[in-house]
Amino acid sequence: MIYLDANASEPLRPDALAAVHSALMQTGNPSSVHQAGRAARRILEEAREQLAFRFSARPGNLVFTSGATEANALAVHGLRASRRLLIGATEHDSIRASGSEAEIIPVDDSGVVALDSLEAMLGSGPPALVCLMLANNETGVMHPVREVAALCRSHGALLHVDAVQAAGRVPLDLSELGADSLAISSHKLGGPAGAGALLLAPAHADICPLIAGGGQERGRRGGTPAVAAIAGFAAAALAASGGEHLAPLRDSAERAAVARGAVVCGAAAPRLPNTSCVALPGVRADAQVIALDLARIAVSAGAACSSGKVGASHVLRAMGLGPLAGQAIRISLPWNADPAHVDAFGRAYAAMAERLHAALPHDGSREAIMR
Ligand code: PMP
Repeated sequence: MIYLDANASEPLRPDALAAVHSALMQTGNPSSVHQAGRAARRILEEAREQLAFRFSARPGNLVFTSGATEANALAVHGLRASRRLLIGATEHDSIRASGSEAEIIPVDDSGVVALDSLEAMLGSGPPALVCLMLANNETGVMHPVREVAALCRSHGALLHVDAVQAAGRVPLDLSELGADSLAISSHKLGGPAGAGALLLAPAHADICPLIAGGGQERGRRGGTPAVAAIAGFAAAALAASGGEHLAPLRDSAERAAVARGAVVCGAAAPRLPNTSCVALPGVRADAQVIALDLARIAVSAGAACSSGKVGASHVLRAMGLGPLAGQAIRISLPWNADPAHVDAFGRAYAAMAERLHAALPHDGSREAIMR
């Protein structure tokens, strides 16, 4: 199987596997006072320090969660209070579902947040909590988050950033971004699933918990932390030192698709080096994913969490892509992508496009669809 679906889950990094294994061998609950408990606590706190160091937060301001879905929900729950909630039109479902009555900040046709609309929204009405992702999971399109943070500050708004897809692939620094909080996820960095974190700016270090309980995480998240997953999370974050080496491979995969009539979504915007979203006019995304799967190539249509459901992606619809929104697949190169795999993708894509295009109607609408 050629795995080109890293944005759903990165392959486990060897350092992460070693850290998980070693932490699993340590019996003990980090809340226990005896030696075994203290040894587990040391693993937990060392991971906290490593992750905080990696993303320039203070260790005490990092709350471990079960993943980024929970970190996003904790941010919205804990920071919102009586604020209006403004969310980007292309946010992940974990943000879209985390707060009621959100106002949607539009994006342009490249998928980049419309700063003038955001400014107008911030200027009209009471203070807001703005949620904007650093990089989109379906297209890789990156928002100008530093500018957004400055706008938020000047309007008394708070900013939460879902940095799940950016972490480890592009530079990421909480204090430099100017955000109030940042969500990251272990399995998107090459660690195991089951761990994530919310990094908080000092002013919000005592965020109100979403899950109360045993007082863990300084009362900010109840429940015994998944120590082994967290150890793997930190090891993966230290090993993930950028995805720039993937950009030429991503470009090569795109060229192969474009040569067969595909359109690259968000091509004009700054994008993650590993992600490409390519639409094949007239051909349903699920048919493309299945055809490539039969050729033993794993890609996805839309977000992984929603790829079971048939329907056009809300991300691509927000970009005004019309019918193409249901005809796009995502290629996301893993940290260990092999150039030979990208070549194999190009060949499989060509065969798939030829076969599925041949199945389109021959009544004149075919040319119109493919134009
Ligand atoms: N945000 C983004 C942008 C994502 O891509 C994902 C995972 N698809 C999440 C949040 C949720 O992360 P997790 O799987 O850790 O809950």
